[in-house]
Amino acid sequence: MQRAGGGGRADCEQAGERVGQQSGPHRDVGRAGSRPGGAGSVLEGLDPQQRHAVLAPRGPVCILAGAGTGKTRTITRRIAHLVNTGHVRGDQVLAVTFTARAAGELRMRLAGLGIADAGTGPVQARTFHSAALRNLSYFWPRVYGEEPWQLLDGQFRAVAQAVRRVGLDPSTETIRDVLTEIGWAKSSLLTPDTYAEQALALGRDLPVPAPEVARAFRAYEDLKVSGPVRMLDFDDLLGHMADLVEDVPAIAEEFRDRYRCFVVDEFQDVTPAQQRLLSAWLGRRDDLTVVGDVNQTIYSFAGAEPDFLLGFADRYPGATVVRLESDYRSTPQVVDLANDVIGAGAGRFRSAGLTLTGMRPPGPEPQLNEYADEDSEAEAVAGAVADLVHGGLDPSEIAVLYRVNAQSERIEAALEQAGIGYRLKGGEGFFERPVIRRAMSTIDRMVDGSDEATVQAGARLTDPTEVVAAIRRVLEPIGLTAAEPSGAQARETWNALTALVGLAEEIATAESRPGVLPVVAGLRERAAARHAPDERGVTLASFHAAKGLEWDAVFLIGVHEGSLPISHAINAGPDAIEEERRLLYVGITRAREHLSLSWSRSRRAGGRATRRPSRFLDPVRPAGAPAAPRRSSDSSDKGRCRSCGEKLTGPMHRALGLCPDCAVEVDTGLFERLRDWRKDTAERIGKPAYTVFTNGTLAQIARDRPADTRALGRIGGIGAHKLGEYGDDVLRLIREG
Ligand code: ATP
Ligand code: MG
Repeated sequence: MQRAGGGGRADCEQAGERVGQQSGPHRDVGRAGSRPGGAGSVLEGLDPQQRHAVLAPRGPVCILAGAGTGKTRTITRRIAHLVNTGHVRGDQVLAVTFTARAAGELRMRLAGLGIADAGTGPVQARTFHSAALRNLSYFWPRVYGEEPWQLLDGQFRAVAQAVRRVGLDPSTETIRDVLTEIGWAKSSLLTPDTYAEQALALGRDLPVPAPEVARAFRAYEDLKVSGPVRMLDFDDLLGHMADLVEDVPAIAEEFRDRYRCFVVDEFQDVTPAQQRLLSAWLGRRDDLTVVGDVNQTIYSFAGAEPDFLLGFADRYPGATVVRLESDYRSTPQVVDLANDVIGAGAGRFRSAGLTLTGMRPPGPEPQLNEYADEDSEAEAVAGAVADLVHGGLDPSEIAVLYRVNAQSERIEAALEQAGIGYRLKGGEGFFERPVIRRAMSTIDRMVDGSDEATVQAGARLTDPTEVVAAIRRVLEPIGLTAAEPSGAQARETWNALTALVGLAEEIATAESRPGVLPVVAGLRERAAARHAPDERGVTLASFHAAKGLEWDAVFLIGVHEGSLPISHAINAGPDAIEEERRLLYVGITRAREHLSLSWSRSRRAGGRATRRPSRFLDPVRPAGAPAAPRRSSDSSDKGRCRSCGEKLTGPMHRALGLCPDCAVEVDTGLFERLRDWRKDTAERIGKPAYTVFTNGTLAQIARDRPADTRALGRIGGIGAHKLGEYGDDVLRLIREG
């Protein structure tokens, strides 16, 4: 995973920025060099609550805050304040977050404050995984001596092998699902022995029966240790590092002496495995600042536990707790939309949610656009992007976000057609691209001893600019020409190599040791942590990958049922659906000014228009989309479509409150078959038909098409008794459809 680069504005973390300042493409960006000198400037541009959090004494601090309220700004300033006032040395601070790109964002903001390397070695800003990887590489030999280990490259392949070994169907879907389950199990501190019971107790949506998943899980664990080199996957890194700190007092002591102050961003997504490592790091100390927004919990399917955030004050009764609700990122128009979408949600996180107030000057109304098919949607979005770019907006201030990576294909083609450059985030990893693999091995040769003269020359370079120039030279033959070449392919290669050199430069500047070697080591580490560098152009990213970042203009595409919420979430039930709502909230709140949400009625041109806009837009659609008549709660409107106001006919559409056009995803044939079955059943048991199931219940079944008993049981009007009585019949009818 990588950071979405200049995608998010490099935060204006310098003294010049003011509340409400209009953002624009030529904003001044915080950089090392424009350092706020002392405590005064570190506090500048903070509101009273942010200031309170920054100035809180060393010890536990919990910041509960909405999107764009300055959480990341506040923690970076807090770190700067603690370092500048001599409370802690920069290199004793470990700041962690969840995605490599968010860690990159932290690092960049710290650099902007001038304390990423405040003469004492840099503040470490890392993901949990990369922090664990670094620690483990360092401490491993102490415990395991010469025994070799390697980070498992290609977890999918290993799981596929395990799935086959235990005789399960090795379809891509099953492998993916088993992989998710293994990830969830490890994040939740479960083993192959304890997995099945927990998965069943929590009603996980499983691809195959839990005991089968557990067998595949065990086979996978065995595979990793059966070769000559022990393999560790990303989750093992956390567990092993926690083991070492918990079990080996000398390691605990050294580690705790080295790191004294901990900060966790996006704490709502911490998993039990990460919390365990954090507790091991801390020992009995409590110098911990956490910050998060429960409304942005988007990894609970993978084991994230927002209760760690919500329960922080109970765990540390003396903690300073700060709430932030002023949104400095987005216009009030964007903030209102975000509030409406999240406010309509249900579930246990709601009460802890915050309501945002937009602090920026007003901007354009968010656009809600419907298109006939995905190509038209992609073309229109590319057109709107091109208009913004031609109007002077820097392409790196624009993002197109989607639910799954496969959705990027059409938009890529449309942007290419429109002549707009883009960079993909979260798709094929930057470091996996053939050109970057080649570049990395070319750079490796500078230090691997195969050419003594080169190695010697590299070791003698003391100035970071010389190191970067040397790296640039070895990359010239593979496409890093002095000037940007023409031709799409050559340009893509050139862009990637330029980004790699930019990364080398970043590492060289932060590195205190001379020579090429530490830079190459840094590049390797970044590759292992899958932390890609910035590339130029419009950002294309999944909603998940966009977390924590911001752009002037954001386009959310595919905002229709089945895509958002994604179909498997619809089948999995209310909790999964609420997580999808939070995902949309994360997407909306990435936009500073321009926001567009769009969907298409059909996948292909001329295809059947079977889609309807996302249910999450129900509370906002009529007002935002002038073409659709305003929805009314007036009782005289009973019997009219609650989406477009059309008069309703037919039992199914009346039960749903939606006309055929707005209920396009409902399976009419299934509804009719269910009605026939109900009629027969009612006759057989000698009771009125509605006592079997109401039209409303049947319509919901026809809409959601639950795949199993558990999903069926979640539909309103189906209790345990009816589930036992009719569940098999209904599921059979669904399957036959
Ligand atoms: P997210 O939940 O998306 O991670 P966040 O709470 O971390 O958001 P930041 O990214 O720190 O928010 O801040 C959002 C934007 O608002 C940034 O551009 C930041 O520079 C700006 N900002 C934060 N606090 C203030 C303030 N007091 N005055 C002006 N701008 C601010
Ligand atoms: Mg943030």
